[in-house]
Amino acid sequence: MASAAKAGKGTGIDILRLPLIGRLLRWRRGRLAMQLLLLAAAALMVYDGLSGPQLAPQNLAGVVTWVQYRGLLMLSLLLCGNLFCMACPFALLRSLGGRFVERGRRWPKRLRSKWVAMAVLILFFFLYEWLDLWASPWMTAWLILIYFAAAFILEAAFSGSPFCKYVCPMGSFNFAGSMISPTQIGVGDRDTCVSCQGKPCINGDGRTLGCGTSLFPPQISSNMDCVLCLDCARACPHDNVVWRVRNPLAELSQPARWPRRWDASLLLALIAFAGVSNAFGMVPPFYRLEEWLWGVTGIRSEGLLLGLIFGALNVAVPLVLILAAAWGSRRLSGADMSLRANVSGYAPALVPVSFAIWLAHYGFHFASGALGIIPVTQFFLNDHGISWLGAAPRWDMGQLMPMAYMLPIQLLIVLTGVWASNKVIDRAALPAGVSHRGRLAAGLPWLALVLLLAAAAMVIFTLPMEMRGAFPAAELRALPEEVHPGQMMSMLSAPWVYPPLGWPK
Ligand code: SF4
Ligand code: SF4
Repeated sequence: MASAAKAGKGTGIDILRLPLIGRLLRWRRGRLAMQLLLLAAAALMVYDGLSGPQLAPQNLAGVVTWVQYRGLLMLSLLLCGNLFCMACPFALLRSLGGRFVERGRRWPKRLRSKWVAMAVLILFFFLYEWLDLWASPWMTAWLILIYFAAAFILEAAFSGSPFCKYVCPMGSFNFAGSMISPTQIGVGDRDTCVSCQGKPCINGDGRTLGCGTSLFPPQISSNMDCVLCLDCARACPHDNVVWRVRNPLAELSQPARWPRRWDASLLLALIAFAGVSNAFGMVPPFYRLEEWLWGVTGIRSEGLLLGLIFGALNVAVPLVLILAAAWGSRRLSGADMSLRANVSGYAPALVPVSFAIWLAHYGFHFASGALGIIPVTQFFLNDHGISWLGAAPRWDMGQLMPMAYMLPIQLLIVLTGVWASNKVIDRAALPAGVSHRGRLAAGLPWLALVLLLAAAAMVIFTLPMEMRGAFPAAELRALPEEVHPGQMMSMLSAPWVYPPLGWPK
């Protein structure tokens, strides 16, 4: 079969044509092999979570889930693409047996949007704080098991990949993050697609499954909804699917292609605001706020208090600010457009700053605890009679770099996000006829929102932050106990803001 992609149409490096890696990726069982690897890792985490020590930094479930996974996820999205969805063990059923997924019913039409995923994402952020999931290996193990159960049931009951596209909160997070990834699925030669019989890349051909999330490679303009399963590449009889390297801002710079849908745009907004609230939940002012609310409202239920705080930060405040920005943008530009069109036109501009905030946050935890995988593995092996790297776990290992480097790097990352968001704002989709001046004015409220998110994140990053899933950094351990009463608090890299801020009582 002639290879249209090999014919050289299109531009950019095609990862599917790289020696060795390309073959492995296109191999029929390539995804299954990666999924089985992650399944084995998940099984170990569940086992240790349920039966091992319950101090998170000493348990594989605590360390791998809340330090390694989140850091590596952000790095993979930044440097390559949605690799975790590609190797996701929760989607194993689809790789194992097309029989199940082909027979299932179609996902209900009224649920084919991002609303369910947003609701699950909001619930997850709330449960994460309320149940201190990061501190409980046992609950983390159950979270993994519940995830498997939900994914298996939905994949078995419905055709396609409704769990990935409409429900999975991690998938939604990854989809949004991958909008800024430097790779994208596409085709080598569009003419080949025009004459292609049956379009197996999306419809399947009986032997191979088509795209579970209903993306058609010649028309893909965004990484949203692409789980990088590469089923399209395996199904294409013309070897025409490519996984091309691109400019990371390529898709965000074409906001006219972003769907005019509230659910899609508000998903991006939710992830951006949750980036700030998630980091805020780990610094002293958050506990002060909780204490203050406890005092003024008389509410004695922590769940209710956290529900109020995170309901406000992840739902009410974003809604008000997004609508205010859209209203202001419309008024300042004089453009004749609906609020929904304005929000859709500018929502992609939130992606860079949002991604930068999450990267700076998770990157901080990763940089301060990544090597913790070594002692926790030693500990696990010792517990099972295997000695590795000596008998005693090296609990002094954890940090990848000195704490002092972290804050400048975090601030640089966030500022880069602001710069990229500003570039996207400049290219926002506005009705034809809006003058250059009107375009500049229309972008101002959105730029203000981007700056607000970035400023909030940067202030939070200068505060002492809880070290969830990791032991305190070496610098902190050397300090007297009264300086770090929270045990899991880090001094972070801004000692000048401490002690004036003090600690929560
Ligand atoms: S299977 Fe899809 S990508 Fe391949 S040639 Fe046909 S339409 Fe194009
Ligand atoms: S376009 Fe569809 S089939 Fe192709 S990699 Fe993305 S999700 Fe998989």
